[in-house]
Order: sequence, then structure tokens, then C-alpha cells
Amino acid sequence: MFMHISEFQEMMKQIYFKRDSERGIKGTFNWLVDEVAELGEELKGNDRIATEKEFADVIAWIASLANIMGIDLEKAALNKYPHKCPKCNASPCQCTF
Ligand SMILES: [Zn+2]
Repeated sequence: MFMHISEFQEMMKQIYFKRDSERGIKGTFNWLVDEVAELGEELKGNDRIATEKEFADVIAWIASLANIMGIDLEKAALNKYPHKCPKCNASPCQCTF
């Protein structure tokens, strides 16, 4: 089953918006930071399933934060990354490391 980023964000809004709103921007951002740290821990091991779950948590908390900020993630992502690198305007990116 395929889903646009905007559909995922809307789904998260249906499930969590009330709780996310009550927690607020700072609290929700703190959860996102914790989940990014957990992803970092999983990357040190080789448990692919656990790593997938951490990726899921990170995108879920990004969607929650965007929802309470009123930011359209799909629009934001594609505005900044319109099928090419925003720095060198190429795909694949040709920037030097
Ligand atoms: Zn580039």
C-alpha cells in the first residue's frame, strides 16, 4: 500500500492531533529528539527490524510536530528538494564533499 507524505501526515493528525496539541511544540520536539537518539543507538547494532521501527518513530514524531506547527511536510520537502539537489541543482547531486 502506497501513501503520500501528506496522507501519512493526515493519518497521524487523525490519530494524535489532540494529544500532540496538548503536549505542545517543545514537548513534541523533545520526543522527536529522543527518537532520533534511539535510531542512532539502533544503527550501532544489526537488528534491521528494530531499526525500521525507529525510522517509523522518527517520521511519526516529525509528522506530529509538523501538525501542531501547521506545516505541510510534503509541500515543504518538495519545495526544498524539487527532484534535484538545492545546492548544485543536479540529480544525482554533484556537490563536492
Ligand atoms: Zn548537490
